[in-house]
Amino acid sequence: MNRIFSINPEVAWPKFPARSYARLDHHEPDNLATAQEAVFSFDAVDAGWFGPPFDVWMDLGKPDDTRRQMRDFWSQLFKGYLSPPKDPFDEMPIYNIEVTSKRGDRYWDFLIAIGEEDWLDIELGTTGSFPVDVYGSLLAAPIIAHLLSLGQVTGDTATALSNAFDVDAWPDAADGDIDAILSGVGTIDMIAMYDIGQGSAIGLLDSSETARLYFDLGAGAYGNRQTRPTPLRFCWRGSPSIVLSHWDTDHWAGENSDHGARARRWVAPRQYNLGPRHHAFAHRILKNGGTLHIWSAAPGTTRSISNGSGQTLSIKRCSGTSRNGNGIACYLDDDNYQASWLLTGDAGYSEIGGGPAHALTALTVPHHGADMSHKGSPPATIAAHARLFYSFGPDNKHGSTSISHPTAVAVAAHAGALWKHGAWSLITPAQVVAGGDVLATASHSSATSLAVHLESAVAGWTAAPTVPLSTVPCVSGCGTKHGCTSNVIQA
Ligand SMILES: [Zn+2]
Ligand SMILES: [Zn+2]
Repeated sequence: MNRIFSINPEVAWPKFPARSYARLDHHEPDNLATAQEAVFSFDAVDAGWFGPPFDVWMDLGKPDDTRRQMRDFWSQLFKGYLSPPKDPFDEMPIYNIEVTSKRGDRYWDFLIAIGEEDWLDIELGTTGSFPVDVYGSLLAAPIIAHLLSLGQVTGDTATALSNAFDVDAWPDAADGDIDAILSGVGTIDMIAMYDIGQGSAIGLLDSSETARLYFDLGAGAYGNRQTRPTPLRFCWRGSPSIVLSHWDTDHWAGENSDHGARARRWVAPRQYNLGPRHHAFAHRILKNGGTLHIWSAAPGTTRSISNGSGQTLSIKRCSGTSRNGNGIACYLDDDNYQASWLLTGDAGYSEIGGGPAHALTALTVPHHGADMSHKGSPPATIAAHARLFYSFGPDNKHGSTSISHPTAVAVAAHAGALWKHGAWSLITPAQVVAGGDVLATASHSSATSLAVHLESAVAGWTAAPTVPLSTVPCVSGCGTKHGCTSNVIQA
């Protein structure tokens, strides 16, 4: 196992890499054009690792060899050979480097110009004047290092790195496999948003309160690791599969603390320019006996499966250009109730486009309530009963910026679309339990109260289900030895 996935914070990649090769993983806020400050998170591998003796795996001087080797490697893994020779992923020292920059400082102009496809050469030292946070695993505390230089990798080295981490080495899923996963879901009575800290994990539950499908299996990680509940385990008694909205860590990191998540079927979008951590995660799924179905449909494509009793489950490929914006959205239409639910992941509304057939009675706010105002407006609520879900961790933070989710901009936009936000302030939201249409996973600290987890929440088609749910969490019969931890007490 790669140390980045260790549940023991002490077992992380050590210190920080003096020099690393990295791809930009994400930045916050989403809209850099108007930002005054931002955190840029880099998916980095210690550059020293590529030299002897490890160049038997990936020789950055020989891009064509690297490409051929990695294509062979992934083809064996996807075919179910769990021990292909020359497996690089357990030994690869992968770090998360978080650079907080302000408009006008020495790195800002360079940082905002980086593309997802670029490779960066990052030099760090123990002393300097530009501190950055370096994480050796999902759950380790950061090491403070200083940014000494940041440049673009070019030539053979850049080509070899792109060949080493190339999602085109992964086969396309067959439509029949995707359909089989969606059609196994059956009839859904409730949607659950799990309190997993800063991230997102949604369950579609049947009349027995059994999860039939997960849409994301996220959890707090890196700078938001303290927002993750411990322990954190999901319910597997219904052998659900997982659809990943996109490849960002906060949407799959819940897998690492849950043995029950192993050997599952995962559907994920083909997203380009993924970095080392995503390849290591794909490797982890396959090595644990799971299957990974890469959905490569063009933007705007929908796959729908009807269950024969009035429900249609759809996944749709979003049309944005960023990783948040070109993943998978999910919606469920119920013709009997004339109601629909829309699960957005981190995509903006204009990137999702149309889809749901009926009035929304459940909606998950995109990107944990980040400011997505440049990516469309929320749909208006028109149903008599509806629920608006906000998934975020108590007092979540993003690098050293002042940003926290949900943002006042997102809350105001949804309030403007007539979603009732109850007791929340539109200026400093999420400091109390909202009520109204809103269900949230946390409350932030304020002058008079501490940040708290609010636990998991459910919605039904036309009315609030009774909570606490009787069989969740289940201590036995959950398909795993330890049972799940999903405490559903909000509706
Ligand atoms: Zn994301
Ligand atoms: Zn996210």
